[in-house]
Amino acid sequence: MSDGLRTESPPRWRGRFAPSPTGPLHFGSLVAAVGSYLDARANGGEWLLRIEDIDRPRTVPGAADGILRTLEGFGFEWDGEVVFQSRRLDRYHAALVRLQLAGQVYPCSCSRREIAASATRRSVDGGLLYPGTCRAGLREGLAARAWRLRVPDREFVFHDRIQGETRQNLEREVGDFVLLRADGQYAYQLAVVVDDAAQGVNSIVRGVDLLDSTARQIWLLQCLGLPVPAYAHLPVAVNPAGEKLSKQTRAPAIDPARGTRLLARALRFLGQPVPAEAEASPLADFWRWAISTWKLARVPVAKATLAE
Ligand code: GLU
Repeated sequence: MSDGLRTESPPRWRGRFAPSPTGPLHFGSLVAAVGSYLDARANGGEWLLRIEDIDRPRTVPGAADGILRTLEGFGFEWDGEVVFQSRRLDRYHAALVRLQLAGQVYPCSCSRREIAASATRRSVDGGLLYPGTCRAGLREGLAARAWRLRVPDREFVFHDRIQGETRQNLEREVGDFVLLRADGQYAYQLAVVVDDAAQGVNSIVRGVDLLDSTARQIWLLQCLGLPVPAYAHLPVAVNPAGEKLSKQTRAPAIDPARGTRLLARALRFLGQPVPAEAEASPLADFWRWAISTWKLARVPVAKATLAE
């Protein structure tokens, strides 16, 4: 029995990198890997690796293996086993059932075409804001296509370690969002929240393109009674046309043979000065140096930066 005086040791700092295997790693994903890795290690923390292969139609066969080999080639060292979302569907199901029992989600029968015909506003994602047609219950004779989470009409305010105070009203800017899609796939928002909590991740460092998802994830964590981690959103790398580097914008794959040169480029992108001798040093020495000198405060607040 506790005497009431025992102090729990604080949970360990735990970060993660969670790439989607939709293609090979490019410079933009290297930036997220480097930023999350250095931030975790510089704080004496663990760094986990999770392959977010939840979206079957977008998953490219062989991409996950390629990502793991590339990370290894760059000298990243992750803690524990690599987690694959495709093997954790039962967890997402359990979370959805919990929300169903609590009445926090509802079935939705709307097709894309119906939403397009009835929506009057755009969401922060640039898509149509779901007007809440099925909130009051499925219409007679219609079957559920997707399950949506009810969102409140209130402003979520959170402190991002890089972007500062961030606000979003979920009802006005996002709308009730899908957790189980019409094609039977669990949505990224549900999977990411369930996994971060199950893996004890308490510090998330990722690209600023996900800043707009953060209020949704905080709300979902609150609905599930799970702890909310700290967030830091890094600038994303864009090409000269201003598009985020991605498979869709044909970002070139990165080659670990370019080792410390590419890592140094990622660090400079993140506002960290890299002396020539560090860039020329062996990989293990480079990482030791990078961990000892990393400062999150130097990361630019800019949302998009040209990948040079
Ligand atoms: N899997 C997401 C991606 O590759 C990242 C998810 C996250 O960091 O929360 O963009």
